[in-house]
Amino acid sequence: MRIDQIPQEIRSSLVPRPRGRYVYRCSACGEDFGIERLLYTCPQCRSVLMLEDLEWDELKATAGARWRDIFDHRKMLTLPPLQGIYRYHELLGSVIPLDAVICLGEGHTPVIEANGRLRDWAGIPFHFKNDGQNPSASFKDRGMASAFSYLNHLITHAGLKDVLAICASTGDTSASAALYASYLGDRVKSAVLLPHGRVTPQQLGQPLGSGATVIEIPGVFDDCMKVVEQLSERYSVALMNSKNAWRILGQESYSYEIAQGFDYDVADLVIVIPIGNAGNITAVLQGFLKLHALQIIRRLPTILGVQSEHANPVYLYYLEPDPARRRFKPVTVKPSAAQAAMIGNPVSMPRVVQLVERYRELGGTEAVQVTQVSEQEIMDAMLFANRNGHIACTQGGECLAALAKAVREGVIGRDRVGVLDATAHALKFSVFQEKYFSNAFEAEYKVHPKEELRNAPHLIELPNHVPTPAAGVSLGPDAFKQFVDYTASAVAELLDLKVR
Ligand SMILES: *Cc1c(COP(=O)(O)O)cnc(C)c1O
Ligand SMILES: [Zn+2]
Repeated sequence: MRIDQIPQEIRSSLVPRPRGRYVYRCSACGEDFGIERLLYTCPQCRSVLMLEDLEWDELKATAGARWRDIFDHRKMLTLPPLQGIYRYHELLGSVIPLDAVICLGEGHTPVIEANGRLRDWAGIPFHFKNDGQNPSASFKDRGMASAFSYLNHLITHAGLKDVLAICASTGDTSASAALYASYLGDRVKSAVLLPHGRVTPQQLGQPLGSGATVIEIPGVFDDCMKVVEQLSERYSVALMNSKNAWRILGQESYSYEIAQGFDYDVADLVIVIPIGNAGNITAVLQGFLKLHALQIIRRLPTILGVQSEHANPVYLYYLEPDPARRRFKPVTVKPSAAQAAMIGNPVSMPRVVQLVERYRELGGTEAVQVTQVSEQEIMDAMLFANRNGHIACTQGGECLAALAKAVREGVIGRDRVGVLDATAHALKFSVFQEKYFSNAFEAEYKVHPKEELRNAPHLIELPNHVPTPAAGVSLGPDAFKQFVDYTASAVAELLDLKVR
C-alpha cells in the first residue's frame, strides 16, 4: 500500500524519522558513552555495553494501542527500508535515518504450527518460528542488519572510512557478516575467524562465497573470540560479534514479531531460545521488556533458555536458586551437535544476569527458566520435527527437546503454547543428520541413532543385461525401453505398488 491509501489519522506516524538520543551504557558500572565512535567494551571496567535511548520516556506518551496500530499499518506499507526489522524503528535504533538502512530481506519469518503428532510428542501445542528463513539462513541477519545499518550511517553521514568488519564465529555470524559486508561493496571489507573444523561445510562456504577473508584458527569458538577481542582493542576494526550492542538491538525484532504475530497477546506463550554466546536471549528478554514498558503487551511471556549438556555455563549458573550465591564459571565445552551454541564463556552473560533479574521482578521467578538437554535429545528432537514438516536445525531441535522435557517435568504447564526459535535452516547442519543416519557420531557425543528415525537412499542396481544410461550417452529407443521397464519394476517392488 502507498502511504496515501492509509487512514488519515495514522498516516503522520507511519514513516519513521530519526529520533532519540542513544548512548552505550555499561552493564556493570552503569557509565554512559557516546555512540559517535565504535565501542564494544566499557573503557572504565571492560564489561559489555547495551544501547540506551535517553529519550525513551518520550515514547511512553504514545498509548500502547496506538503503537499496535502503527506497527500493524506499517505492515501494509511497501516502503523498502521498512520491509525488515526497521518496521519497529522507534524501538531498535531510531537514530538511524531510513536512507542508511540496509535491508536484505531479514526478519518477518514464518511461525509454523506443529501438527498433532508433534504436539502430542511435546505435550503442548507449539510453533516453530523459522529464523532459518532469513537471507543467510539464520537469525544472525536480524542483528547484522542493525549493526551494518549503523555502520553505513557512520560511513554515509559521519565520514567513517576504511572499514574492516571482523568477527569470530561458530559459523552463522560469519555467514551473515560477510553477506551484509558484501552488499556494501567497496565501503566495507570483511574478515571472519573460524575455529578450524568446527563449522559445517555449508557455513564455511557462505563467507567464502561472499568474498570475505576467511581465517581458520585452531581451538574452539571461545579461543577465536579472545583473538578477535584483542584485535578489536588494538586495531581499528568494526567488531561484528554480539558484543557489538547494535547486534542486540536488531535481534530484539524477534520478540516484536512474535508479539505482533500473536495479536499482542503473549501471556500464555513460552518462548524457547538456545543459548550460546547469549546475545539472542539478551535481545529477546530486552525486546519483551520494551514492549511491556510501552504497554504494547500487557503481560510478559515465559522465556525458556536451553543449553546442551556439553556447553552449559548459563544452565549451571541458574541452578543456584539464591541470586546472592550465584557465581558464573566458564566451562570447557565438549563437541555438540548444537554447534552454533557450543560456547563455554558467553560474552553477553553480564547482560543476561541484569535482564533476567528485571524480567523476573516483573513476571515472577518462573518467567525465565534455563534448562539443559543431552546430545541424544537434541538429535532425536530435530529429526522428529523434520519428519513432521519443519526445517529445524540442531538448535531448533534443542528447543523442542527442552520444551518436551519442561512439560514432562511440570516446569511448563499444559495450558501454555510454545514458540520455538528454529535459529537456522536445517540444511546448514545436515552433517549432523548424516552422522545420525550413518551411526557415525564420535563416542563423546553419546548419540545412538533410533532406528525409526534413520533414513538412507536405495540404489537401484542394474544387472549386466540391462542397458545403463549415463551423462552424455544416449541409449537407442529399444535399449532405453529395456532400462525403463526394468527400473520401473524394481521401484514398484521396492514400494510394494499394486498394479491397476
Ligand atoms: C549463534 C547461534 C545460536 C546461539 O545464539 P547466541 O546469541 O550466541 O546465544 C543458536 N543457534 C544458531 C543457529 C546460531 O547461529
Ligand atoms: Zn563499566
